[in-house]
Amino acid sequence: MKLDTKALRYLTTEDWRVLTAVEMGSKNHEIVPTPLITQLSGLRGGSGVHKCISTLAKANLIARMKNAKYDGYRLTYGGLDYLALHTHLKRQTLYSTGNCIGVGKESDIYVVASSTGSQFVLKIHRLGRISFRSIKNNRDYLRHRSNASWMYMSRLSALKEFTFMKVLRENGFRVPEPVAQSRHTVVMELIDAFPLRQIQEVPNPAGLYAELIDIVLRLASFGLIHGDFNEFNILIREDEIPAVETSGDTKTDIPDSKPAITLTPVIIDFPQMVSIDHTNAEMYFDRDINCIKRFFERRFNFVSDEPGPFFADAKMLAGAPESKRLDVEVEASGFSKKMARELEKYMQEVGVEGDVSYEGSGHTGEGDSDASGTSSGAEESSDDLSQDLRGSDGNDGLFKPSNEVESE
Ligand code: ADP
Ligand code: MG
Repeated sequence: MKLDTKALRYLTTEDWRVLTAVEMGSKNHEIVPTPLITQLSGLRGGSGVHKCISTLAKANLIARMKNAKYDGYRLTYGGLDYLALHTHLKRQTLYSTGNCIGVGKESDIYVVASSTGSQFVLKIHRLGRISFRSIKNNRDYLRHRSNASWMYMSRLSALKEFTFMKVLRENGFRVPEPVAQSRHTVVMELIDAFPLRQIQEVPNPAGLYAELIDIVLRLASFGLIHGDFNEFNILIREDEIPAVETSGDTKTDIPDSKPAITLTPVIIDFPQMVSIDHTNAEMYFDRDINCIKRFFERRFNFVSDEPGPFFADAKMLAGAPESKRLDVEVEASGFSKKMARELEKYMQEVGVEGDVSYEGSGHTGEGDSDASGTSSGAEESSDDLSQDLRGSDGNDGLFKPSNEVESE
């Protein structure tokens, strides 16, 4: 679905209260009865609340459920987007949205800006968006799946990503800096880099390969397996190293000389991360390693002389007495085992498989990025949504209905 922020700047304080009331009511009701919306909004009933409801419904932020036994509404994905954006605006973590730079099966990625003009990435998790494979496999199941659970799972996915990014970053891993999380969205540092997938040539494939394998092992030594370590989720940043002259103990920059370039891998996309103690840890670990091996062979004609690394090696690293366990740390920071289980079960049920389909599925993502559902860059960037999220006066202003806001 498209993120259209046009109506955002026109919603009144009362509209926001009513939208929040629908969200609150959704916790216990698949369809939130209108009297409950009125009650939760804390506004006096009557025409005021009804006007807000009609405004929100016209903007597709809530949807009327006609066939239900009682009159009511449910929050749409668009409504959830608005609530999350509203929170980011209030916290001043973002000010305006820009281009969509990636549409995965399970997320949309936008470039956004803060009020000072710094650019960030907004990742909107959309676990309810059904992949081409899971429609086939889970049609009956999904027909009965509730709207609320899609939203809940997308929130869990965002919370998981944010929590993991934070602990990884704190422990020296190169991942985007997490800035904020609200509902099903994460705001993070924008990495100025291309996914490995888009890189045709590197000066030293052996060096880059070794570095990536090292990242998988370092993660393992902290008790973690990425679970979706592939060429879409590894961004390759070109970092400049200034040329220096060494004389004795002093180093000086050589003016006018061309700086050397190093390729720095930055890892993204963490909703599928698992603990090294997970029942299927070995399968996930091998899959991550094999993904890199296969890609390097196909793309760079590079095959390592060394076999492995193997899961047993990784397990040993995690078991070392000095090892710090981040799989345990994330639980302490708010992403509980129960949440992890719920999210994992859901992902399995709806067929979330990450960016590429792996062995046995008929394709490997190589040469068919459309089928894999991931496209980064060019195709999406024509979808220019650049616009201020706030009205010119900086407050909520008056609402102007927009037909272009889509629900799901
Ligand atoms: P999905 O779960 O849908 O695969 P990802 O987090 O992998 O979502 O993001 C999809 C694409 O968006 C990536 O392949 C990358 O091209 C781009 N992207 C995501 N996060 C960032 C970021 N922080 N900086 C730059 N590009 C990003
Ligand atoms: Mg990805």
